[in-house]
Amino acid sequence: MAAPDRSGPAAQAANKVFTRVDVDGHALPPSPAPSSPLSGRRRYALATELVYTESKDQYGSSSIPIYQSATFKQASSNGGNEYDYTRSGNPTRTHLERHLAKIMNATRALAVGSGMGALDVITRLLKPGDEVITGDDLYGGTNRLLTYLQNNQGVVVHHVDTTNPEQVRKLITSKTAMVLLETPTNPLIKIVDIPSIARTTHEVNSKALVIVDNTMLSPMLSNPLDLGADIVYESGTKYLSGHHDIMAGVIACNDPELGNRMYFTVNATGCGLSPNDSFLLMRGVKTLAIRMEKQQANAQQIAEFLESHGFRVRYPGLKSHPQYDLHWSMARGAGAVLSFETGDVGISERIVEAARLWGISVSFGCVNSLISMPCRMSHASIDAKTRQERQMPEDIIRLCVGIEDASDLIDDLSRALVQAGAVTLTLDGFHTNDVDTDAVTPSV
Ligand SMILES: *Cc1c(COP(=O)(O)O)cnc(C)c1O
Repeated sequence: MAAPDRSGPAAQAANKVFTRVDVDGHALPPSPAPSSPLSGRRRYALATELVYTESKDQYGSSSIPIYQSATFKQASSNGGNEYDYTRSGNPTRTHLERHLAKIMNATRALAVGSGMGALDVITRLLKPGDEVITGDDLYGGTNRLLTYLQNNQGVVVHHVDTTNPEQVRKLITSKTAMVLLETPTNPLIKIVDIPSIARTTHEVNSKALVIVDNTMLSPMLSNPLDLGADIVYESGTKYLSGHHDIMAGVIACNDPELGNRMYFTVNATGCGLSPNDSFLLMRGVKTLAIRMEKQQANAQQIAEFLESHGFRVRYPGLKSHPQYDLHWSMARGAGAVLSFETGDVGISERIVEAARLWGISVSFGCVNSLISMPCRMSHASIDAKTRQERQMPEDIIRLCVGIEDASDLIDDLSRALVQAGAVTLTLDGFHTNDVDTDAVTPSV
């Protein structure tokens, strides 16, 4: 593989820190190399790639040691060792980053302190006057950061319905610096056509970057870089780590110059993931396949259960999803987040509070099942008026399905539905009480 161009100022800064290490991971035997598509060898299945790692550890340790050290001694007064200071680089983090690059089908990955930290690194590529085109059903924190950039950094942000590629196309100009996409959106579970938006964006403005937040699917189910995106990022707090015990964010791309510019920010601002959390994220990633398989199998059963009782359920695993085919053209699974409406905010609140196995919590991707009301919790930072404009039902309940026994989850949810008055229990089973989503009158 040809050496990447390392001529830009950011690249020079990166090279100064990493004089010897191959920051892109091309020439490295460890984690990304054995079957990276770019090495031209047959690729292992993802479940294999996720667990397979190699390292040059002197004792042959089977998991990467935690290099809990801020500094590294140098061989001479000129430095010259692979690592010198953990803000700039740390062996545990590098090992993780190479592994992530491999599973994200990227040549470069960066691990930072949170998903929002990842978006912060990416948006520092923007200059005042740059325009960003993005969705109208965004993750609340993404919305908050973009609003900040708009109000304080002279960045122009356009929110459109990204499920309609035509609406995106109309806004692309020479000023467009980024098109930022999320699919499925959350909690409305709308699907965005990444390949067609990426193609159009690059046709109209070859410099515009298509960025995808892949948190909802994870590399297990989708690889946006293969669909035409320039940068993919995701919250490692969710599926990648899987246990809600760390915060992390990951960024991946295939353009070395872009990778170097983002690495510059990681080093300049000090947002790189800590050695201990890098270790934990690495451990989490190894079980991503088995967790995701179980979580989405459970989610499918629960979605079918709710739909069969008359609730309006949003889940791309259901044939009733209006963009079912589009989703499956881009993804290998439906994920484990779904939402449903009850027709009444009070009923929804009571369901959420009556659930026992389902923890009331924001976030998703954890081995435990979670239930929440997005308009009150994760999306509360979007004001009520905007939520209304974006057709976000105030009564919507989001379920983030874990790895528990599916029957236990369904039993618990059934009991919560009955207790909340959303359904009535009769001898022949459940009867849904008036869950017409247009209904405004409470049914109890
Ligand atoms: C959680 C989340 C983020 C932010 O990640 P943090 O790790 O919480 O900072 C970004 N996008 C989506 C879709 C998320 O769900």
